[in-house]
Amino acid sequence: MALNTPLRHLFDYRPPDGRDPAALVPGLRVEVPFGRRTLVGMLIECAAGSSLPAARLRAARAVLDTEPVLDATTFGLVRWAADYYHHPLGEAFAAALPAALRAGRPLIARETRFRLVPGGPEALAAAKRLGPRQRELAAVLLAHESLGAAELELLGAGVGEVVKAFLARGWIASFEVEPPAVAAPAGRPASGPVLTGAQAVAVREIGASLGGFAPYLLHGVTGSGKTEVYLRVIEQVLARGEQALVLVPEIGLTPQAVARFSSRFPVPLAVLHSGLADGERLAMWRAARSGAAPLVIGTRSAIFVPLARPGIVIVDEEHDSSYKQQEGFRYSARDLAVVRAQRHGIPVVLGSATPSLETLQQARSGRYRRVDLPQRTGSAGVPTMRIVDLRAHEDRHGIATPSMLAIRRHLGDGGQVLLYLNRRGFAPTLFCPGCGWAAPCSDCDARLTVHLRTHRLVCHHCGASQPVPFACPRCGAELRPVGQGTERIEDALDELFAGVPVVRIDRDTVHGRGEFETALERVHSGEARILVGTQMLTKGHDFPDVTLVVVLNADQGLFGTDFRASERLAQSIVQVAGRAGRATRPGEVLIQSACPEHPLLTQLLAAGYDGFAEVALAERAAAHWPPFSRLAVLRAEAASREQALAFLAAARDAAPAAERGPVRLLGPAPAAMERRAARYRAQLLLESADRAPLQRLLALWLPRVAQLPAARRVRWAIDVDPLEVA
Ligand code: ADP
Ligand code: ZN
Ligand code: ZN
Repeated sequence: MALNTPLRHLFDYRPPDGRDPAALVPGLRVEVPFGRRTLVGMLIECAAGSSLPAARLRAARAVLDTEPVLDATTFGLVRWAADYYHHPLGEAFAAALPAALRAGRPLIARETRFRLVPGGPEALAAAKRLGPRQRELAAVLLAHESLGAAELELLGAGVGEVVKAFLARGWIASFEVEPPAVAAPAGRPASGPVLTGAQAVAVREIGASLGGFAPYLLHGVTGSGKTEVYLRVIEQVLARGEQALVLVPEIGLTPQAVARFSSRFPVPLAVLHSGLADGERLAMWRAARSGAAPLVIGTRSAIFVPLARPGIVIVDEEHDSSYKQQEGFRYSARDLAVVRAQRHGIPVVLGSATPSLETLQQARSGRYRRVDLPQRTGSAGVPTMRIVDLRAHEDRHGIATPSMLAIRRHLGDGGQVLLYLNRRGFAPTLFCPGCGWAAPCSDCDARLTVHLRTHRLVCHHCGASQPVPFACPRCGAELRPVGQGTERIEDALDELFAGVPVVRIDRDTVHGRGEFETALERVHSGEARILVGTQMLTKGHDFPDVTLVVVLNADQGLFGTDFRASERLAQSIVQVAGRAGRATRPGEVLIQSACPEHPLLTQLLAAGYDGFAEVALAERAAAHWPPFSRLAVLRAEAASREQALAFLAAARDAAPAAERGPVRLLGPAPAAMERRAARYRAQLLLESADRAPLQRLLALWLPRVAQLPAARRVRWAIDVDPLEVA
């Protein structure tokens, strides 16, 4: 049995009393006693015996399913992923299953409903001395066909007693219903545009490989019509009676995106994301599993959803970091998509305007087939890009004069303007000119960000917050906010362009999906003229009337400590630039920087993302970074620096040189931000030219690491193929 515990081994149980072990197959959920608790585990295999003495072998309580909840391929994928990412199998299965199944709820959750029996209305009418609660329930029953738990809840606590009383008097009866199926959209499906030549080639190529494993990189500049290619390929998949699984980044899964898919196909669509209630999620998951939903769209964890008739996996914006789970079970849904497609024997399409260097390298080496959409659809050309030298121009609150003039010009021509700054709040630092105090976070190696709207200093790393002080707590001098955040840009715009409606989109203004929709609506309707926002604006949204994009501070990404910092910056710039001039108006992009000669920027401007990628790949090759090497990071955090480092040193020593082979162990070293949330963080980096020796070493070594006495004094985790090593 695999149990949802951090322990890295399986657990043995006797079959529940009276169950024939021959009828038990892997993939069934089984309820078992664990200490004094009862856990829901996943049956991995039935063995003839156990190494546990018979007296200690406990019997499982109950088998919850009549058939495996996961099909053999999905089951195999989870096992493979747990092995590859060296994560406890029980936790991996827990991550793969909807919460309702994890909690032991039935796969097919029937709902109990209540309705009046024939003659019930008359009996109620004749009944004397009904209490107020009873009269209320009677009225609701008379007005409705039947009532379920959700409706009954609205009648307030204690309604259960009243229902029981009605049942006892024979006025109402209960019955069970299947949960509602995922419905197909109403209305006639829309037809698509005539494909461009490049789109037609892409659709033909990918379509021709249906029915067999084939990995594709679909590299299309923003606005080149990648989504249209997905739609046409999905059309073929559905025509074959198969299912399509489409993965999208967390933020990209807006109702608009879903609407675009559902308007084209008259089939039930299962949508899986973190915002669903448990019951909803289970219903969607079941529709994917049974095949009732031929089209399944979801975020990261949807990579584990079982499919009855898999036909294709599509990963949109494959470079997006949200595909990598950053805590717990640290898997990459993008990478698992390729593994999964291979196991099913179906194509997988990784689409992006700014592919990750890993994926580009796979295409260069011929392992992935590359399909390009080099041009935008429609008449909009490629936007012109220019650098605004921050050293040469005055700036007002972070907006340099040439940028300000350009904003004025575009607004005057009726265009919308987008300002991108990946920093929320008012200012990243509150500084004392008297003594140099700079509002540090007491728990992190970081400064507190000034948020003027809420009048608080907030740590963006641990979440700690406090009121903004009136004067320097050390010397009493007046404090000065230094640097720009989106709030401050919003204020500057109010000052520079009084009366022009501005919409700010960042995590402070936009909390849920609904608020994001509202903000986008203000942009799409044309009511808002200027958009200011963070990373959220770079992801997958078209703003057809935006004609000018200003990247306010490119330098944040130029000097990042992580080996992926420049890749991320190039992706952000190209993605945000791609939002501009998508309709018929030409776009213009201004990139503000204090180091305009930086080779990354010049290369990006001169040769586009592909040109940048060539240079960046050459740098990675020279430095033996991925994709030219394989990494794993052993991370530790503890109450003191010494504990974290001591654990990692002990871990390093637990890998004798003879076992390391070609794997290099680097460190331990403190993390770039050593202290976060009052914990000291450090890491040990493992690097190898090839995957196999690294995997071999990890498999041998990690069980030993888990047993180290020093491991008890730290929180540790292994991250295979980490996104960051800073
Ligand atoms: P991408 O996903 O590559 O950013 P989209 O698929 O969103 O691009 O397409 C950008 C815009 O172009 C959309 O409004 C889409 O409806 C439109 N479009 C896509 N393909 C065509 C085509 N062949 N002819 C005309 N318009 C198209
Ligand atoms: Zn001071
Ligand atoms: Zn902090």
